[in-house]
Amino acid sequence: MFIISACFLGENCKYDGGNNTTEWITDFAKRHSHLAVCPEMAGGLPAPRPSVEIIDGKAVNKEGLDVTAEFKKGAALVWEDIQKQAAELGEEIEGAILKAKSPSCGSDLIYDGTFSHKTVVGDGFLVQLLKKNGIKVINENDNKEDLLNEEL
Ligand code: SF4
Repeated sequence: MFIISACFLGENCKYDGGNNTTEWITDFAKRHSHLAVCPEMAGGLPAPRPSVEIIDGKAVNKEGLDVTAEFKKGAALVWEDIQKQAAELGEEIEGAILKAKSPSCGSDLIYDGTFSHKTVVGDGFLVQLLKKNGIKVINENDNKEDLLNEEL
């Protein structure tokens, strides 16, 4: 079972109320067991919502509100849900395909906290939790074969 950012699959859960539909990921999802997740909405945030970046380890929105508690709660709930569903299906969690640069889903590089589209080395809240639990994460810009072990 794979974990996939729900916004890749057309869910309008992005901060601006839109999505990040990505064709190869949609095709991949049709052929593989997966769970579509949006940790920010799982944590109780609405869509649309003010954009958030990570500042000094905290999730802070563009209006200056600290939403770290919602981000942590959403990541924990998503991780719990994935483990439960994988166990029920008797499947391994094979990896995650999550949206680049997001303060929740971003891997290796995230926005730097200045809301100016600049990036810094780091992981979003969900990715931190997944990596801590040994789950391999890629984003849409990574080498797909590293995770998926198949031609797409
Ligand atoms: Fe997409 Fe993740 Fe942001 Fe939800 S939290 S909108 S799944 S990038």
